[in-house]
Amino acid sequence: MEEKIHVLSPDVADKIAAGEVAERPSSVVKELVENAVDAGADKITVEIKNGGIKLIRVADNGKGIPSEQVPTAFLRHATSKLNTADDLYNISTMGFRGEALSSICAVAKVEIITKTAEAETGVHYIVDHGICGEADEIACADGTIMVVEDLFANVPARMKFLKKDSTEAGYISDLMTRLALSKPNISFDYICDGKPVFKTSGDGDLTNVILKVYGLKFAKAVMPVDYFENGVKISGVIGKPELSFGNRTKQTIFVNGRYIKNHVIAKVAEEAFRNAVMIGKFPFFVLNIEVPPEMVDVNVHPAKTEVKFANEKQLYDIVYHAVKNAMYGIKVSEEKADQS
Ligand code: ADP
Ligand code: MG
Repeated sequence: MEEKIHVLSPDVADKIAAGEVAERPSSVVKELVENAVDAGADKITVEIKNGGIKLIRVADNGKGIPSEQVPTAFLRHATSKLNTADDLYNISTMGFRGEALSSICAVAKVEIITKTAEAETGVHYIVDHGICGEADEIACADGTIMVVEDLFANVPARMKFLKKDSTEAGYISDLMTRLALSKPNISFDYICDGKPVFKTSGDGDLTNVILKVYGLKFAKAVMPVDYFENGVKISGVIGKPELSFGNRTKQTIFVNGRYIKNHVIAKVAEEAFRNAVMIGKFPFFVLNIEVPPEMVDVNVHPAKTEVKFANEKQLYDIVYHAVKNAMYGIKVSEEKADQS
């Protein structure tokens, strides 16, 4: 049979793109929470059931979407955050690819309730496999509620690759922890299978977030990181060396407020702990690296957890110095404690 070259139908193309953005329940939570952050919300409630497969509900008090724009928001490459290709080199929002909502609604049942401050009432839409139904007027507060149900029910291959509910819930909890750490100014309320897991105050204090997500033992054993060199600002906290672990799950790195995975930066930070932490143990830290937007490319991967830096070597040195400095703070405070 002769196979003709043809452009894929939007439905198939969406499902392929969906596989990259909506890889598993935690990736859906990440996209929805990032949208809430971009909408300027300072209160975000996340509720999941059965590892997010049965239900993911994200409610925010952000700016909402004007009713007539909601159907467009669910189209692929539809975004309010990027206009020209040049904007790609100066990204200040978490999202910009305009792929999340279209991807999610290709693989799940989605409902949205949204209201802008200007609108008198809110609207409710049911999105069925990418197609927005009729709008219903609904009384609600300003902001947006996204409800995602039966994730991957129409993608059996993806469903099979998911781990058990408790493992998927674990990934979501880990993500929620890091999102809360990345935005101490936002109050995050996280509920898993009907049980409240944590609620941060949104008072802007990272140590208070650490107290809520990791507990008192952590909050009492941290030292601030506050460093500036060559246009790069590094803030956050490091844990005292005795607060160390058998793996890196308690290490968090943000670049311009975005949670990223970068083993090189983690290793550089660990290097600064050398001789203080036992071999095979990993220290605790939350590092927020702020670089000028043009020095970092976040458009490397659809999930945006990998980034590229313009001047890697220099950045690694700065991270090292920042952590070393904070370590020095620990030493000084311990010496003071010894003297008194
Ligand atoms: P992106 O975030 O890359 O722009 P998305 O598919 O995630 O793409 O969202 C599409 C658009 O829908 C966004 O650009 C934004 O205008 C709007 N939107 C999505 N979620 C929200 C929300 N919670 N509050 C306000 N607007 C939203
Ligand atoms: Mg988005």
